[in-house]
Amino acid sequence: MENNDFVSIQSQIVSGKLTVTQLVSEYLKAIDSTKQLNTYLEVFADEAIERAKILDEQFLKNPASMGRLYGMVISIKDVICYKGHQVTGGSKILAGFESLYTATALQRLLEEDVIVIGRVNCDEFAMGSGNENSAYGPTINALGDNRVPGGSSGASAVAVQTNTCTASLGSDTGGSVRQPAAFCGLVGMKPTYGRISRYGLLAYASSFDQIGTITHTVADAALLLEIMAGPDDYDSTASPMAVEKYSDLDSEATPKKIAYFESTLNHPSIDPEIRSSSLEFIEKLKKDGHEVVSLDFDLLDYLIPAYYVLTTAEASTNLSRYDGVRFGYRTSEVKDLQDSYRKSRTEGFGTEVKRRILLGTFVLSSGYYDAYYQKAQKVRRLITEQTKEIFQSFDHIIMPVTPTVAWKIGEKSADPIATYLADIYTVQANMTGIPAIAIPLGKNQENMPFGIQIMSARYTEHALLNFAQSIDY
Ligand code: GLN
Repeated sequence: MENNDFVSIQSQIVSGKLTVTQLVSEYLKAIDSTKQLNTYLEVFADEAIERAKILDEQFLKNPASMGRLYGMVISIKDVICYKGHQVTGGSKILAGFESLYTATALQRLLEEDVIVIGRVNCDEFAMGSGNENSAYGPTINALGDNRVPGGSSGASAVAVQTNTCTASLGSDTGGSVRQPAAFCGLVGMKPTYGRISRYGLLAYASSFDQIGTITHTVADAALLLEIMAGPDDYDSTASPMAVEKYSDLDSEATPKKIAYFESTLNHPSIDPEIRSSSLEFIEKLKKDGHEVVSLDFDLLDYLIPAYYVLTTAEASTNLSRYDGVRFGYRTSEVKDLQDSYRKSRTEGFGTEVKRRILLGTFVLSSGYYDAYYQKAQKVRRLITEQTKEIFQSFDHIIMPVTPTVAWKIGEKSADPIATYLADIYTVQANMTGIPAIAIPLGKNQENMPFGIQIMSARYTEHALLNFAQSIDY
């Protein structure tokens, strides 16, 4: 997509060709004309226009006083708190709930003059890979053919894809920004665990969750990350490590040492077109002077089982707060307190969330804890150690983002395991806490896009973004 990225938009604004008020009006029109895709749960039309007008006036008076994101209009996934605005996690259990504070990441963007145009749909509590698990109905991929946009930040991807905003904030626990970005032909970036504060992000699996971005370009991802990243008194897992100037990108890539896993490209689930494009990509990297080496990684098939044991365990604990008493949905007509808990949760949560709470409670229960939860923790440690070791000798690991292109809505609904398996390439980054970026790689014969994923060692986002920028995507 040309000229829809922030760098192009901002240059038009600064040169006086476009005002932010005009830009917001254009986006609002696009929101209106794409309503059938069910992207936005709520549009902040009036306040977005009002804020745009104030910013435009300020710009006329004193251009030097503008924040770095003057002219950036974003949408936010329905798991990110924005004071005075609803946040429901795509769930009925939080219908009508209003945020009491703003997420640190979003607060930092607002301080740089970002405008939030609306709150977008997602899988309930970010659990899913197709945006089909929302209590507010599925979001549809704008590329047509009734396909999913990916998930759980599916609507964030569609919002950017349909030019209803410049960029979107999502969250990534096991691939939720990278996979929808790949399904919609966009850039999806998940930073190192701890790079961005999770304060104000509704928790799914706390040791995996990170806020991430969906953008048209790597440069936009870099700028947003630079502003959001850094320590935060409200989140002890947010790293105190200095934030590099990610937005200073140098597209001349120096030769890199890159690893890929033979097992990812020979996996039975991979679409032959994605496989051959990935192999071509590897050849191109070699031609460009990079050293690309194939490695064995025999833990590939353990990633998904371990991920789903650990994340459901954490989710079952995190979601216990939705009890119908303190906040959110409460059932009517109850016999006693137990009955109120049971009915509120039965009526408030959707099928997938209930499945995961049950699974997570099971793997944490005494008698099964050692067999499942602890074993999965051991697998996580092994994967983390192996991954770390690879980065002793390599700058990057590459692999496809997904084994297939976007599937048709409803196609996988009857088989949750099939949906879980589609996360095979994205969960490693979350299991190990490393940063990963998905960039467009190609389109299949049906004109559906897919991506390539680049990973690097913890806290090496600058190198990762620089390398991604050097690729002609
Ligand atoms: N599809 C994965 C899951 O359902 C990832 C979701 C996410 O990253 N939030 O858990």
